[in-house]
Amino acid sequence: MRLRINHSVKRIMRIISLTLLGGAMMLAGLGVGAGSARALDGFEDARQAMVARQLQRRDITAPRVLIAMGAVPRHRFVPEAMASRAYGDHPLPIGEGQTISQPYIVALMTQWAEVQPGDRVLEVGTGSGYQAAVLAELTDQVWSIELLPELARRAAARLKELGYGRVRVRCGDGYRGWPEAAPFDAILVTAAAPRVPPALTAQLKEGGRLVIPLGPPGEPQTLMRYRQVQGKLLEEASLAVRFVPLVRPPAPKAAPGPDPPEAPEPGPGPGAPAR
Ligand code: SAH
Repeated sequence: MRLRINHSVKRIMRIISLTLLGGAMMLAGLGVGAGSARALDGFEDARQAMVARQLQRRDITAPRVLIAMGAVPRHRFVPEAMASRAYGDHPLPIGEGQTISQPYIVALMTQWAEVQPGDRVLEVGTGSGYQAAVLAELTDQVWSIELLPELARRAAARLKELGYGRVRVRCGDGYRGWPEAAPFDAILVTAAAPRVPPALTAQLKEGGRLVIPLGPPGEPQTLMRYRQVQGKLLEEASLAVRFVPLVRPPAPKAAPGPDPPEAPEPGPGPGAPAR
């Protein structure tokens, strides 16, 4: 008797779970709810293991950060051939000589940035777009600047495709920040600079957080967390890290002299839009 009841309970549970799965698949197929699509992406276990082992076992404690890290499909931000390694405890190459940081560093920078819903957040160094997507899980006000046109173009397309179309991506020099969108509650720089770019300090709100790796290229760097208090940057936390350098692009060409050439330049000139 007991066995039979167990058996029918199991059957009912199976029918319910199949129905739920069918519903989720239908919604995913219809493009309804990024979450349902994510749950079926085949990497859910790897992603949750990453959160538990690499983040919670270390010092990532902010629940919203843990949820965000468990939601963003990191494997979609790395080259397809590396998807199976996307949730490993290491950085990965993303092309053009750049790298996506290890999950722990992304989570730590996000935790240090203390992003609240509605906060205005600037990221410098879009790269793959992964850090921007994690930020977009926490606030709908994210701006991200990338120096390399091809990376900026690809990241913007990928973010849109994955439902993070509200992230504003621009190709440009992050040393200058994004003055039109300032001031920001938090600024995250994901490439190492020798010192804090003054434009970024100027674009930070009172009480705003700046997270940035500092140090000369090729030498040990320190990830810093500052807070803007009464016009001064207060140092609050630091950690030894290694990032790619924040590159200073060549200065824009001097204004044309009194006799500019009459003929238009062939093909897209240096001032052509990057994407
Ligand atoms: N946050 C990225 C990884 C960043 S790697 C991610 O989640 O994938 C650092 C990025 O900073 C690289 O893509 C590099 O091209 C970019 N970068 C370097 N110098 C820059 C500058 N001056 N302005 C904007 N981006 C810059």
